[in-house]
Amino acid sequence: MSNEATAGKAAVLRKVGGPFAIEPIAVAAPRDDEVLVRIVGVGVCHTDIACRDGFPIPMPIVLGHEGSGVIEAIGNKVKRLQVGDHVVLAFNSCGACRACAHDHPAACSQFLAFNFGGVRISDGSTPLSQDGQPVHGVFFGQSSFASYAIAREINTVVVPASLPLELLGPLGCGIMTGAGAAINSLNVQPGQSVAIFGGGTVGLSALLGARAVGAGKVFVVEPSAKRRALAQELGASQTFDPRNAHDLVADIKAASDGGTDHAIDTTALPTVVGQAINSVMPGGVVALLGIPAPDAAIPATLLDLLVKNVTLQPVVEGDANPQSFIPRLLALYQEKKFPFDRLITKYPFTQINEAIHAAERSEVVKPVLLF
Ligand code: ZN
Repeated sequence: MSNEATAGKAAVLRKVGGPFAIEPIAVAAPRDDEVLVRIVGVGVCHTDIACRDGFPIPMPIVLGHEGSGVIEAIGNKVKRLQVGDHVVLAFNSCGACRACAHDHPAACSQFLAFNFGGVRISDGSTPLSQDGQPVHGVFFGQSSFASYAIAREINTVVVPASLPLELLGPLGCGIMTGAGAAINSLNVQPGQSVAIFGGGTVGLSALLGARAVGAGKVFVVEPSAKRRALAQELGASQTFDPRNAHDLVADIKAASDGGTDHAIDTTALPTVVGQAINSVMPGGVVALLGIPAPDAAIPATLLDLLVKNVTLQPVVEGDANPQSFIPRLLALYQEKKFPFDRLITKYPFTQINEAIHAAERSEVVKPVLLF
């Protein structure tokens, strides 16, 4: 295998607030446990936007963590992957801590360092550079806002070559998070009801996941009329506009015979989390999926939680092991039980800033950038 760097293009972020600038980048050859992936598509996720807007990361950096592509080179110790494999890149994990050893990499004890650190844990290096100057990379073990990415074997998932590879990247984060919240974290049972707060990618993926496992009533609370209409098409029993509701909690309770079995919050807004807490039946579980503001507090007293007998369950990456969960979602997709492609709008990679603005204005749900 050649040790020469590969020349590519990347969207480089140099300061809080952006923009992302498309620039040449040199991508080093993969190390022992790494692979070089030619990226064909990458989703834009809210976490990319949160990092652009101040969530602590080193700069300059290449973000992007919903990449899909084709393996072009593999490291000497890679066993499970081959050149030419079609792959989806997921979040990074250590593979060795207690959570990782128990098939729960989303709770990896080094999750933050492995996904937001901008450098390899082993020696503080980065595979990315410009004119010999290092550029931070390995964001979520990939930095896939780039035509080539270095990923690790552990976060590279082989997918069938018969599927539309350019659309599959979001299965590595946003779609996995929403669907996993319903299927893994809450373990929604046939007939159970779910109230979902927020109709973006994560919320609508939670809807699709709940539907795929036979949920009963599923409600989606979302201010955008366009997203509410999409939720209806994707199987929501009823949608609610929180701006028009006189008493949203009362409306949800009336529609669900006194409260839902589960709630999923994707907004991380304390007011909305409070509505979720009040919408579930006693004994219900509220899954918390969004990235909250640093000072956002739980909008309930301890007595509230006790009296309502509510469980709050923070969820990272849908409590999924990508190596098994992404193939499961793709099998459901092939059985036409998980039409995640309905969430996607395609953009050329060069229109990354426009794509993000469209998502921020709720004009699209999940932008996917194509190379
Ligand atoms: Zn770990």
